[in-house]
Amino acid sequence: MIIVLKATATEEQKRHILEKIESLGLRPHVSVGVKRTVIGVIGPEDAVRNVPLAAFPGVETVVPILQPFKLVSREFKEDDTIVTVRGVEIGRKKIVVMAGPCSVEGRDMLLEVATHVSRAGASLLRGGAFKPRTSPYSFQGLGENALKCLAEAREKTGLPVVTELMDPRDIPLIEKYADMVQIGMRNMSNFALLRELGALKKPILLKRGNMATINELLMSAEYIVSSGNPNVVLCERGIRTFETQTRNTPDLISVPVIKQLSHLPVIVDPSHATGRRDLIEPLCRAAIAIGADGLLVEVHPDPETAMSDGPQSLAPDQFADMMRGLASVARAVGREL
Ligand code: PEP
Ligand code: MN
Repeated sequence: MIIVLKATATEEQKRHILEKIESLGLRPHVSVGVKRTVIGVIGPEDAVRNVPLAAFPGVETVVPILQPFKLVSREFKEDDTIVTVRGVEIGRKKIVVMAGPCSVEGRDMLLEVATHVSRAGASLLRGGAFKPRTSPYSFQGLGENALKCLAEAREKTGLPVVTELMDPRDIPLIEKYADMVQIGMRNMSNFALLRELGALKKPILLKRGNMATINELLMSAEYIVSSGNPNVVLCERGIRTFETQTRNTPDLISVPVIKQLSHLPVIVDPSHATGRRDLIEPLCRAAIAIGADGLLVEVHPDPETAMSDGPQSLAPDQFADMMRGLASVARAVGREL
């Protein structure tokens, strides 16, 4: 449930309510909005059923949250959440483009891509250090060496870096080097891992599982936020359907649906959604038009030789051309690139 406070509620009244909730063994989450402050009460609501919270001084109203997800729901927080990654804000007017190779394959290639995507207007550098590969015999990523390359590329370009975490044992390493932590589609439902992210003081990029519903994605985000980390960006990266022309089927309508249901920012990954270089630009255009807050695009200096996801990677000049074209789409829907 959420407790909506009166505009005139005092700090003392607020503290009294928070103490009452905690004394019942429940966890209060305070959200200070532009228009009002609300307290989310998370936990088994039976405990408060007989407590007349609506009669407490300073309380305007008590409303149940009907959705199964609570803290990430629009019901709990009306205003859009802005997630800040080393100064880059996700969820405002500017479309935030994250670009870089699927895997960091070495220092030189990463510095080359980083320089190109930065010049072309990307705001974040992506690159995998720990790769979730379908085959155990495929390239698994360079681990800490890749993280060091990402840190060097950040130094050189100023771009914050986002990289995937798969194993909770790697948290100290990722914490040391990354600015944003990606949870890939395969781990979207790894609830033990998601709980660990509460203590991580880094924003999270949570990708939708390829077999996950929108509600399941939001429940996974709820795991992270309820564990103590409110900085979550959601990513639509395509789902598995009967269609085989594309690697996955981009479910673009999830963007406005999620925005109705949740206050969290949403970005689209056209690379994994299609698996095809020629479809990246059309999908980016559609993603911006439908309201995405950002894009995650794979770029490789020489896609033909990429150690992972070459067929869906753009070459640097293709990426730069695409970015020029996307600016007018952004303008047409009141955004900027
Ligand atoms: C990736 O971003 O490189 C990746 C593996 O993505 P996903 O988890 O969406 O497949
Ligand atoms: Mn990839």
